[in-house]
Amino acid sequence: MSSSTQVSGTGVVAPPDSTGISIIVVGGGFGGLSCAIECKRKGHSVVVLERVPGLHIQGDVISFGPNAGRIIQRWGLHDKIWELCRHVDKLVLHNYLGEIVREQPLPLPLWGAWGYDGHRAEMHQVIYEYAVSLGIDVRFGYTVQEYYEDDAGSKAGVRVEAKGEVVSMEADLVVAADGVKSKARKYILGYDDKPRSSGYAVYRAWFNGQEQGVDTDPLTDYLTKGEDAFFGWIGRDVHFLASSAKGGKEISWVITRKNDFEVTDNWSFPGKMEDVLAVVDGWEPRCAATLAKAPSCIDWKLIIHDPLPTWISKSARVVLIGDAAHPFLPTSMQGGSQAIEDGVVLAVALQLAGKDNLPLAVQAWEKIRYLRVRESQLIGEDVRNRWHRCQPGDRGPMLDVPRPEWLFAFDAEVNAYEVFESVARDIRENGYNRPVLPPELAP
Ligand SMILES: Cc1cc2nc3c(=O)[nH]c(=O)nc-3n(C[C@H](O)[C@H](O)[C@H](O)COP(=O)(O)OP(=O)(O)OC[C@H]3O[C@@H](n4cnc5c(N)ncnc54)[C@H](O)[C@@H]3O)c2cc1C
Repeated sequence: MSSSTQVSGTGVVAPPDSTGISIIVVGGGFGGLSCAIECKRKGHSVVVLERVPGLHIQGDVISFGPNAGRIIQRWGLHDKIWELCRHVDKLVLHNYLGEIVREQPLPLPLWGAWGYDGHRAEMHQVIYEYAVSLGIDVRFGYTVQEYYEDDAGSKAGVRVEAKGEVVSMEADLVVAADGVKSKARKYILGYDDKPRSSGYAVYRAWFNGQEQGVDTDPLTDYLTKGEDAFFGWIGRDVHFLASSAKGGKEISWVITRKNDFEVTDNWSFPGKMEDVLAVVDGWEPRCAATLAKAPSCIDWKLIIHDPLPTWISKSARVVLIGDAAHPFLPTSMQGGSQAIEDGVVLAVALQLAGKDNLPLAVQAWEKIRYLRVRESQLIGEDVRNRWHRCQPGDRGPMLDVPRPEWLFAFDAEVNAYEVFESVARDIRENGYNRPVLPPELAP
């Protein structure tokens, strides 16, 4: 096939609506928007339904590894996103007394791709604008209340509330990217999967460093010396990360500590500064000084779900992606990246299987994604455990944030084109079975 007629392949944008597959994406976070973008690029028709009335500034620092950066670059968004991000080449890690225990080099690009650490809302805006530029119909103020599939298993639909009315919308596939509090999860599983407390919570903040006097205080100006910085402190089942972006102007910090809490419908609360400062009582003075500069902060309880037995409905016409399927601990720095990979792989699988084999596409997609997601998730627990169980003499690379080749050098789109046919053949020949975790990856 000549390149002028090529409609399929890594980075190739297929003619609009060329596959005839219609998709409703529920949720316009990174997972939902990325899925919509890739579905559009692969020739499917897609609409995004988002509950909130419009884009708004929410969240603070979020990370995308080179595995997601590779996709973002393919969309041509590197320059726009990079200018919003923290530009550092190392993490300077201390013990709580302020002795440097490791300077971890963080070279970028890594395995041919950039990684991004920046403000969630700013990066989200760039991705949203790209989605709109592709002609994707993103509807704000649409709250999905219910999911269904028809008896023949040939259509899926949602009952959605918008502008005071409840209407039904149908498509070949419904992708639920509705986040950690997913409503679709119960529809898929047939029972309420209760989240659990991880036993940890974070205080987090993002603010303008100059307005808060970070640059004029000798205890905090380490973050604002004309360039960005990334510092960390570890001790007594706590770790504290502080960094700056945009030439040291914008500051963010996250401090993770043990916290027993009951899981309720809400796990994000305003943080009280006296409680925050109590966590670093007796620590090197730069820690309290940096924390105290924030005008406000959030107390974000870290909840976890055991791996779900499946991400797809019985008729394989409703699927969970992103946090709805597999929430991540922040220490994995992969929640957003894996949500992006989910959408990329799903779009390829649908393109290769075609409209008449849509359940096969979805089943193969789950099989391709399931173990990789779980392995990425476990990185979060590994980093937290190594830092929080750190002994006074621990130093050096044993404290590094992992940047493994299997995770960061991976190209989800290339891989999906490579492995789809053999995975699909296996399902055709042997039937579909729910994924099984090997013992070493089980919770
Ligand atoms: C407000 C907010 C702030 C966040 N802040 C941070 C942060 O600072 N740092 C960090 O690392 N991660 C943060 N996260 C999580 C991070 O964005 C995700 O872990 C990651 O990007 C995966 O995204 P996702 O699209 O799967 O889920 P999410 O980003 O949670 O997106 C889910 C989307 O679905 C929408 N939705 C939910 N229910 C419905 C419904 N019934 N109908 C229609 N739409 C619905 C939600 O409004 C939301 O926009 C935040 C998430 C949110 C929603």
